[in-house]
Amino acid sequence: MPKKLDQIKYLRRMRSEKFLNSRRFAFPHSKQELIVTRKALEIFSTYRQKEDEPEAGGLLFAEFDFPLILVVEASPPNVADKRWRTLFIPNRILQRRLIRQYFDKGLHFIGEWHTHPEPKPTPSRLDLNSMADAFRKSQHELDCFIMTIVGNQMERLELWVSAHNGSEYSRLDETTQRAAV
Ligand SMILES: [Zn+2]
Repeated sequence: MPKKLDQIKYLRRMRSEKFLNSRRFAFPHSKQELIVTRKALEIFSTYRQKEDEPEAGGLLFAEFDFPLILVVEASPPNVADKRWRTLFIPNRILQRRLIRQYFDKGLHFIGEWHTHPEPKPTPSRLDLNSMADAFRKSQHELDCFIMTIVGNQMERLELWVSAHNGSEYSRLDETTQRAAV
């Protein structure tokens, strides 16, 4: 397909409902882009750590429209998760069940999200180790595993997004800056 038509198709898509206020992150060394849709952003926004609230987290589910990967759902925390100020341990049994349920709806499990009590979130050593471990142990459908960390700024939804495999990771840069959700 000529490049121009590709661009028109792309722009049309970006104006569609699903892309409204979405945020885009580019994979390094690849044409793929991760689009975090409004629905997922609203979950992140809701669980930002206000004052002394504990960490929250969940799973990321996507639709594939390569080179676009659309994060259309971020699952909210469950009462069975263990949550502290600087630690979040999800209930893995419930997560596996959730992955099957979403798969039946045609959505792919691609990674995890959690909050941090800091304005510019960066992964801890524990986060990096657990993502490498999760990549090795879990069933997912990309050649990497996505981690999103949500900062605690209220005026702007600050996100860390990275792609992990069993041994290394790379940060995905945001390609357009948007206002807070
Ligand atoms: Zn963390």
